[in-house]
Amino acid sequence: MSKLKIKIINLGEIEVIKSKEIKNIKSKVFEINNKVEKHTINSQKSNGYSWEFDDIQLKETLPENFDEDVLIAVTFSSVENNFYLRTIDDNRFVISLSPVNDYLNFKNIPTKNFLLKIIYGITLAKKANMNWENVRELLIHDETRGCPFDMNGNLSEITTSCSSIKICNTCKEILKNNNVSCDYIKKIQKELKRIKLPRYVRISNWIKQNPWWSIIITIIFNILCNLVAGLILS
Ligand SMILES: [Zn+2]
Repeated sequence: MSKLKIKIINLGEIEVIKSKEIKNIKSKVFEINNKVEKHTINSQKSNGYSWEFDDIQLKETLPENFDEDVLIAVTFSSVENNFYLRTIDDNRFVISLSPVNDYLNFKNIPTKNFLLKIIYGITLAKKANMNWENVRELLIHDETRGCPFDMNGNLSEITTSCSSIKICNTCKEILKNNNVSCDYIKKIQKELKRIKLPRYVRISNWIKQNPWWSIIITIIFNILCNLVAGLILS
């Protein structure tokens, strides 16, 4: 089965994604070119009323020719509608960190998780042979379900969509109806399970959710330490 080939570029002066971060991403369904190039934004001024670069400016800036199937440009600048994803055409996408960066940082969610949520959504849409109009109409849903097709109209909900990602049942059915095999969906579900929060964040979240257990474990641990120390000294 051929993998979707993806090219990632940093758009603008700030380097959002480093090549070494991409190198560690392994998938059976897509393949990212390890070389993350940097492209400057052509316009000195943004066209938007809230200092955002609109789709016309992005289209003029993005490379038109590339060897991969899909181009994803990642930027810190604001883009049209101040949203985090713009579809320039069916093969070129712009991801803006600007509207979600504070939410991701607040919950210690790596940028890579956010990027992967979008990459798996694009990969599935391509497998279903859907153009982005179809994806918007059929797959993307307003309810936040932790699914690659969460709309996240309320941007703070991006943290839920990037913490533990899985394809929701409704999207699964739509994908199957569009000739995406159960095996392919299973393969992606397995890979999505590997997208986790850093260990220290998971521990800290567990402590917050289970304060009494944390206290009990700390007490037991202290007693055991005292016993061991007593045995060593005696
Ligand atoms: Zn879904």
